[in-house]
Amino acid sequence: TIGMIAVDVEGHIACGTSTNGATHKIAGRVGDSPIPGSGSYVDRHVGGAAATGDGDVMMRFMPALLTVEGMRTGLSPRKAAEKSLFQIASYYPEFMGAIVAASVNGELGAACHGFNEFHYSVANPQVQNVVVMSVSCI
Ligand code: ASP
Repeated sequence: TIGMIAVDVEGHIACGTSTNGATHKIAGRVGDSPIPGSGSYVDRHVGGAAATGDGDVMMRFMPALLTVEGMRTGLSPRKAAEKSLFQIASYYPEFMGAIVAASVNGELGAACHGFNEFHYSVANPQVQNVVVMSVSCI
């Protein structure tokens, strides 16, 4: 999956997700990626989030929506993403997934669960090139 959140200089924000889907998926499977709130979600007053991982589990929890709602309550993007993943893990301890999140003010972060480390890319006016960030999974 490729999930993206983009914020322009005027604060317009958008997100999107593209995926090959799950390995060995059955024909006709839709998965989580195209479902608003699951694969990605944005609120122009708060920020956006995009998710990757076991979509058959994640789509039951609307993790992108949960993350944006977490940011609305004042959590940082990373903490909001962690909270969403903890909620999923409380039902599915073995699940693997990750969430990237960005606020409309330019804060960003990510969290992952079920493996060691997650890498994501950042580009903004402060960095000349794309910077690859990494986060240790919870
Ligand atoms: N979430 C995608 C799916 O389950 C897979 C992925 O993130 O790589 O379709």
